Amino acid sequence: MNTFMRQSPPPEWPPEGVADESASRAHVVKPGELDLSHKVILYLEDITVSFDGFRALNKLSLAIDAGELRCIIGPNGAGKTTMMDVITGKTRPDSGTAFFGQTLDLTRLTEPAIAHAGIGRKFQKPTVFEQHTAFENLELAMKADKRVRRTLFARLSDDDRDRIADVLRQIRLEGAADRPAGLLSHGQKQWLEIGMLLMQEPRLLLLDEPVAGMTDDETERTAELFVSLAGKHSLVVVEHDMAFVEALGGKVTVLCEGSVLAEGDLASVQADPRVIEVYLGR
Ligand code: ADP
Ligand code: MG
Repeated sequence: MNTFMRQSPPPEWPPEGVADESASRAHVVKPGELDLSHKVILYLEDITVSFDGFRALNKLSLAIDAGELRCIIGPNGAGKTTMMDVITGKTRPDSGTAFFGQTLDLTRLTEPAIAHAGIGRKFQKPTVFEQHTAFENLELAMKADKRVRRTLFARLSDDDRDRIADVLRQIRLEGAADRPAGLLSHGQKQWLEIGMLLMQEPRLLLLDEPVAGMTDDETERTAELFVSLAGKHSLVVVEHDMAFVEALGGKVTVLCEGSVLAEGDLASVQADPRVIEVYLGR
């Protein structure tokens, strides 16, 4: 069993910003606890999203296990980013269900409440504070964590410093702690932003094209980082770079026209004639 399943609950529950009253009725589990009793951390069923009649997601169903590292691939326009928008509450589905653990109905929670419940999202473009050092960026991310009551001016405890040092090591920036983020390479900025997410101790990380623009060496190191995060965290990674997907080694889901076309290890989906057709056949 993963240790994060036994974390103490956040200080307040229900979280701020629960979208409506029926949402509170869905949280019958112990206050603030993510219910992973069925080992599934994310469960989407028959999710449909339409934009002016066009179905960006079409009865999409998907289940991610706790601790899993899942890759999502698929042609442009397949609905990958829209799927992440649904999971994070940015887009409401027209129909279908989306659960985080057994009990948290994502279609009824606001974006801040979903982040607060433990879903962290990394967008494509790094958004670090360029004038601040790598260390300070992680410090700011930690202090912005609403689950912990602190002020921006509170002094760091030794424990806080240790946590920041741990994350700096994880993201391979321990030698660049005092460097302004603006002077880091593109890859290092991406790692720093992942570190900022990690400061909030998310259970599920969503990463949209994380290695776009990285050097081969940075891409390899990013794969190592993600593999090391799996287990403690669950990761859903959207990526086009097949060498990277291969290095991650997890199950691969192929999206096409808003639904799952194929699922399995990379070799089996790459050998699937339907997958070959959507990538090469048009
Ligand atoms: P992917 O990330 O797989 O490339 P997207 O999820 O971004 O695909 O987009 C899926 C489809 O939905 C595309 O055809 C896109 O043009 C359309 N789409 C996405 N967001 C919107 C929006 N806000 N309004 C209208 N159409 C959208
Ligand atoms: Mg996209």
